Amino acid sequence: MKQLQGRKLLAAEITEAEKALAAGKKKALVQVLDKGYCQRCGSSFSWELFQLPDGRGYCPYCLTLGRVMAGDFLYLFPVHTGENKNVPVHYPHPLSTEQARLSAWVVQRVQKAGDSLLWAVTGAGKTEMVFQGLAEVLAKGQKVAWVSPRVDVCLEIAPRLKRSFPTIQQTVLHGKSSESYQGEQLVVCTTHQLLRFHEAFHLLVIDEVDAFPFTSEIFLQQGAHLAVAKKGHTLLLTATPTTREFTALRQGKLSYEVLTSRFHGQPLPVPQFLWLNNWRQKLLQKMPTRLKKILATQRWLIFCPEIRWLQQAAKFFAAAFPTKKVVSIYANDPQRHEKVVALRLGEYDFIFTTTILERGVTLENIHVLVLGSNQKIFTKEVLIQIAGRVGRSKDYPTGFVYWVHDGVTRSMVQAKREIQQLNRLAQEKGLLLAPKEEEEK
Ligand SMILES: [Zn+2]
Repeated sequence: MKQLQGRKLLAAEITEAEKALAAGKKKALVQVLDKGYCQRCGSSFSWELFQLPDGRGYCPYCLTLGRVMAGDFLYLFPVHTGENKNVPVHYPHPLSTEQARLSAWVVQRVQKAGDSLLWAVTGAGKTEMVFQGLAEVLAKGQKVAWVSPRVDVCLEIAPRLKRSFPTIQQTVLHGKSSESYQGEQLVVCTTHQLLRFHEAFHLLVIDEVDAFPFTSEIFLQQGAHLAVAKKGHTLLLTATPTTREFTALRQGKLSYEVLTSRFHGQPLPVPQFLWLNNWRQKLLQKMPTRLKKILATQRWLIFCPEIRWLQQAAKFFAAAFPTKKVVSIYANDPQRHEKVVALRLGEYDFIFTTTILERGVTLENIHVLVLGSNQKIFTKEVLIQIAGRVGRSKDYPTGFVYWVHDGVTRSMVQAKREIQQLNRLAQEKGLLLAPKEEEEK
């Protein structure tokens, strides 16, 4: 029964015969005075507030995976560690000296129980730095989960892992996935899916740990913790640590390493602020000449603060640039995945999107414009991630980042400052190549 290995499932999710194979079962919800405690996601909640009409309590946090109610049981299934074996790793390109240094650090960290953080700037090539550590754990026959709060990140990483670990069985799990878990040694999934695992993984890699909703949802963090094997290791990956991670680093609670330069040795693109008074109105009436000039050449990823504004802006830009191919992509777009595939093939000139494309998508030869960068949704972390979409490939290592605003915010200033600081650090460490001569236009 491979599909039960390391699982933590409700009675309703398994058959009677499968129940008999469980190593143990426990109450899904425990009531202590006026509080309920959910053993699936580790959350506590008010017992009085969260009751069905028949008086049974339920957990309001992990509802998306099916309701856990008072009286339910969770069945726990053990993990069988496989045989020791040789796990070949295929790298898409050789590691840089810095990447190799951090790869060695990861190898050494993942052998120990605990947590660590790898902070690498956008486009640093952090995924490859984890491969050797991952291979070490897989070679022992232990299980690895590579998870992210964002489906797009999972979908981007899964084929890369498949190419780099051709001998390892892998599955991809998320809310709309057609694949299911059959006891694969390598599981790529969203952080939500971890709630169905119990002490299963000797290595848990949380990619883009600072992404929504992981940062704001404590139940996901607890769920992730419960999915790690007793002596397992959790490796957090991020390009933009949040205050929470910075605090843990400062207090010495997290072992960490930083990579301040991109693998190709060019600095991070520094954003330019573009002031446009009342930008919403102005843009929908007449395209300002300066902006029109900027946008006339090149391909642009254009970020909008709200979905309702997306279509409108796309229409207006399409009218202003009749020869350009324009597309818009948003979270509940029924054609979202098809469009992202087309994007990677270089199909469009102007891509209008919300923050769903802030990370996880790597496009070649792309530049970035943020409309209304002073809106609340554009936090420091989001702005750094967005700027990080530019210049990621070796063939196109530089590019433009414009933030159109009508009033500079603290987030904008902090984001720009952090990018400049990281570039300065990389320069001081001698990690940047000499700047190329600008080509004559
Ligand atoms: Zn729960």
